[in-house]
Amino acid sequence: MLVQKGFRYRLKPTNEQKCMLLQHGGNSRFLWNYFLKQNIDYYKETGKFKFYHELAILLPKLKKEYSFLSESFSQSLQMVARQFDKALKEVFKKEKGFPSFKKKHLLNDSFTCPQKWRLGREFVFIPKIGEVKWIKHRPLQGEPKSITISQDGDKWYCSVLCKCKIEKQEKKKDNIIGIDVGLEKFAVLSDGTVINNPKHLKKNEKKLAKEQRKLSKKQKGSKNRFKQRMKVRKLHTKIKNVRQDFLHKTTSHMIVKYDGVVLEDLNVSGMMKNHYLAKSIADVSWSEFKRQLEYKSKWNFKHFILIDRFTPTSKTCSNCGCIQDMPLNKRQFDCPDCGVSLDRDFNASINICRLGRSRINACGVEEVSSTMKQEKECSVN
Ligand SMILES: [Zn+2]
Repeated sequence: MLVQKGFRYRLKPTNEQKCMLLQHGGNSRFLWNYFLKQNIDYYKETGKFKFYHELAILLPKLKKEYSFLSESFSQSLQMVARQFDKALKEVFKKEKGFPSFKKKHLLNDSFTCPQKWRLGREFVFIPKIGEVKWIKHRPLQGEPKSITISQDGDKWYCSVLCKCKIEKQEKKKDNIIGIDVGLEKFAVLSDGTVINNPKHLKKNEKKLAKEQRKLSKKQKGSKNRFKQRMKVRKLHTKIKNVRQDFLHKTTSHMIVKYDGVVLEDLNVSGMMKNHYLAKSIADVSWSEFKRQLEYKSKWNFKHFILIDRFTPTSKTCSNCGCIQDMPLNKRQFDCPDCGVSLDRDFNASINICRLGRSRINACGVEEVSSTMKQEKECSVN
């Protein structure tokens, strides 16, 4: 089986190279926003969208009109058209929302080079920029296919997308685990394991909320506002890193320990609509948790089952199957029929596990995959 894996490395550009990276990243952002604006206007006029070929055809004309675009590697510009095309198609598949404008002040520009790059031990050769030093802290696996250079605040990274071959293995089904994710505890497993949220996360979240309030009070365009924005950005990155580290450790451990995982298909995009910071961060964690479990299961030949989110897993007694109302504040499941008394989340996780197991046994292991895209499978940091 062939899978795509991504490997991310820190770049150490010189000041001169930094300027060029900024220019290339900025060009890609400019082009993205241009394509988006074009599409919005075109849709208003005709009720139709412009896809890859109609966008790529604009490139020579655009390069004449905006001479700075010629400084970019032409294939990187074509990649923007491809990426935009993909984003647009994902809207129709109802996987994602409509593409949005990219903003310079977020300092997260990026560009992709499909060809003409080279990887050395000490450097990456980026077309039109040259050899940029990188910190290769871990070896690559498989065959490198493309590189993406991205900005994160004042740091630059190179992600190498590789095609890897994985030897097929027989899937076992003895040790299947049900997972119930929550707000208070990160997750409760059907074998009784409780996974708590990482400690630092809460502290940093509070700090972030405070700094964000400060930012909103600073005058637009002022130096202080810029400084404050950098502060908020740094905290964001820190929280992201803590969370990613925690999720990778948790999911990897679970994939090694169990033969399969079962979880509820939470309506994460629906939950994201709320604006409470802690909650929205939890939502990001859950969808990332699901994403990691899905691709790691696939890579390691383990079962990955999603249960319909409308199944009453919290309301059903895991011992006798009777159903009772369970308001959110009720933390204990006390069964009126058989008298069993269990923690609410633990009871749900047993039901989730049971549903998953019956699904595995029923359909001769036909996995129910979520709608997540394969291309996203690849962030191994
Ligand atoms: Zn019962």
